[in-house]
Amino acid sequence: MEILYIVIPCYNEEEMLPITAKALIRKLDTLIAEEKISPLSKVMFVDDGSKDKTWELIERFHRSCDLFTGVKLSRNKGHQNALLAGLMTARKYADIVVSMDADLQDDINAIDGFLEKRAEGCEIVYGVRSSRETDTGFKRFTAEGYYKLLEAMGVEITYNHADYRLMSRRAIDALAEFKEVNLFLRGIVPMVGFKSDIVTYERAARQAGESKYPLKKMLSFAVEGITSLSVKPIRMITGLGILIFFVAIIMLIYFLIIHCMGRTVQGWTSILMSVWALGGLQLLAIGVIGEYIGKIYLEAKERPKFFIDIDLEEDNNYGYSDSEKE
Ligand code: UDP
Ligand code: MG
Repeated sequence: MEILYIVIPCYNEEEMLPITAKALIRKLDTLIAEEKISPLSKVMFVDDGSKDKTWELIERFHRSCDLFTGVKLSRNKGHQNALLAGLMTARKYADIVVSMDADLQDDINAIDGFLEKRAEGCEIVYGVRSSRETDTGFKRFTAEGYYKLLEAMGVEITYNHADYRLMSRRAIDALAEFKEVNLFLRGIVPMVGFKSDIVTYERAARQAGESKYPLKKMLSFAVEGITSLSVKPIRMITGLGILIFFVAIIMLIYFLIIHCMGRTVQGWTSILMSVWALGGLQLLAIGVIGEYIGKIYLEAKERPKFFIDIDLEEDNNYGYSDSEKE
C-alpha cells in the first residue's frame, strides 16, 4: 500500500482549518480502514506565513493526532510557492501526494477516484470540476475566459482544473527539475507527462473565511500564467509590425497618387510617408528583438528536455517494478 500525503497550503485560514482538519481526518481514516492507503499516510498543512492563528492550530493538530503534520514557511510566498514547498517536502515521505485548497471547495471524495486511477498506473491525476455553479458569475466568466485565452496563447492546460490533483513521487521528482522561479503549476505539471487521467467532481462553495484571492492577486496570477508559459505576446508585436508595414506601403502609394493629382498641401506627403514607414519599421524591429529576448527567456528557464517513462533495459535488470515494492 502506498503512503498518501494530502498537502494543503494555508494562508490565514484559522476559521476554515478546524472544519477542514475534521473532514480530512475522517476521510483518511476511512481510506486507511479500507486498505486503500498505508496507515503512515498524513495530512500536511503548509502555513504560508499566516498572520493569524493558523500555525498554532496546525501545531495543535499535530500534537493531538499522528495523522497531521505541518510545514511553516518563513513568510508569505503565495499559493503556488506554498504548494510547491509542500510537494517538495512531502515527496521525502510519501509515495503519492494529493494537493488541495484549505477551503474544502474541492470534493474530498474525489480522492477515491484519484486512487483508482493511480491503481491503474497513472502518475498524475487531475481533478476537474464539472460545473462552476457555486462560483459567482464574475469569477466563472473571468476564469473560463482565461482558460480560453491561455489556449489561444498555445499553453497546454487542463480545462477547469485547479490545483487539486494527485501526483506520484516520480511525477514530483520530475516537477522538481523545472528550475524556473515564476511557477504556474497548472501549466507546468502537464509538461511532466507520464500516464495521467482526470477525475471530475462538483465544486462546492467556500465554507468559512474569505477568498484569499482578491482581484489584484487574481490578475497578477493570470498575467503570470501567460508570461511564464508563452512568448506569443512578443510574436503578436512582430505580427503587428509586419501588418503595419504592409499598410504603410499601401498608404505610400495612396499618398503619392494624391500628391501627383496635386490635391495636397505642401509637405503633407513627406510627413505622412515618414510617419507610416517609420512606425511600421519600428514595430517590426521591436518584434525581431523581442523574438530573441523570447529565446533568451526560454533558455534561461533551463527546462528539462525530457523524462524517460519506460526504459526496458532498466526494468529488466536493476529497476524495481510496483509489484516488487509491495
Ligand atoms: N493561499 C496561500 N497563500 C496565499 C493565498 C492563498 O497559501 O498567499 C491558499 C489558501 O489558504 C487556500 C488556497 O491557497 O488554501 C486557495 O485560496 P482561496 O481558496 O482563497 O482561493 P479561491 O478558491 O478563492 O480562488
Ligand atoms: Mg477557494
